[in-house]
Amino acid sequence: MKPEVTKRLVKKALTSRCNQKVAAIALSKKGDYIGSAVNSIRMLQMGGGKHAERELMKRFTGIKTIILGRVNKSGELLPIHPCSVCSEISKSLGITIISVWNENKFDLVRKPVIF
Ligand SMILES: [Zn+2]
Repeated sequence: MKPEVTKRLVKKALTSRCNQKVAAIALSKKGDYIGSAVNSIRMLQMGGGKHAERELMKRFTGIKTIILGRVNKSGELLPIHPCSVCSEISKSLGITIISVWNENKFDLVRKPVIF
């Protein structure tokens, strides 16, 4: 994982107004940046929220990879996995979702998980 992508992801996630701050970045086949999204709460739908990764799949085409990250208020990455619905959608679209988090801010990507 490129450190710039992780940094961008953290910055974006911090703009989420949810307690669980989640952001996703879409990359093309070449690894170029396509777009980003954060999770959000939909007030009208009980228990419903918009998943950042699903927003990307709705908004953009030509996505090959989605980088998914969750942070706390200090911007430290926390473990996250895409839900089963997003996983299924991504599979049907041929998109790989990569969850990323680390212990030391942006230095080490401890455990990228590929679904
Ligand atoms: Zn989801």
